[in-house]
Amino acid sequence: MGLVIALNKGRILKECLPLLAQCDVVPEEDVYESRRLIFKTKACDHTLIICRSADVLTYVENGVADVGVTGKDTILEHGGSMGFYELLDLGIGKCRMMTAGPVGVPEPDGVLRVATKFVNISRDYYRRQSRQVSLIKLSGAMEIAPVLGLADTIVDIVDTGNTLKANGLEARETICDITTRLIANRASMKTQFDAIRQFSGQLRTVV
Ligand code: AMP
Repeated sequence: MGLVIALNKGRILKECLPLLAQCDVVPEEDVYESRRLIFKTKACDHTLIICRSADVLTYVENGVADVGVTGKDTILEHGGSMGFYELLDLGIGKCRMMTAGPVGVPEPDGVLRVATKFVNISRDYYRRQSRQVSLIKLSGAMEIAPVLGLADTIVDIVDTGNTLKANGLEARETICDITTRLIANRASMKTQFDAIRQFSGQLRTVV
């Protein structure tokens, strides 16, 4: 039986589609041309769902998708789950979760104001550092928070560092390295064992 595969749209999708193609999993239509979000595949009976990172976890946890492809940042931010297994590091979407602040401005001594989309990762990191922080949840564009005086520091994903630089920020501490992972629904691991093993085995050989 075919698998339902949830894919993280954006940067990860771009790097993931060539890997899938090497496993003969190719969407019937061009995902960038079509407005569809669910795609049949050409040579196999898998179905692809294209959605936002956190929704990949939701679809996989709820068994709507058997497997999913998303970033380790999303998995860490989500916290532990009984609903899915992490099967494979795909080695794509490489970046780092980092703290960053305005160039040349030292962090204040008192409570640190931290703007981030990743509040759980940040809370955990600063707790381990025994650093008292006030977390400010943003949905994106964290880089402007220190510029506008909303926060002293941000916690965000850094790849080339160009976005930080363009906004007058510098990278400081690395919290963790991030790559893209293959995850599988726990129940599907039983009911779709052969198909998941075959799919993850194919992916393992191409990564
Ligand atoms: P850069 O300017 O290359 O350091 O890229 C940083 C920006 O791109 C940040 O706003 C990130 O949210 C985003 N980004 C970079 N790499 C990834 C990735 N692997 N997954 C998701 N977002 C990323």
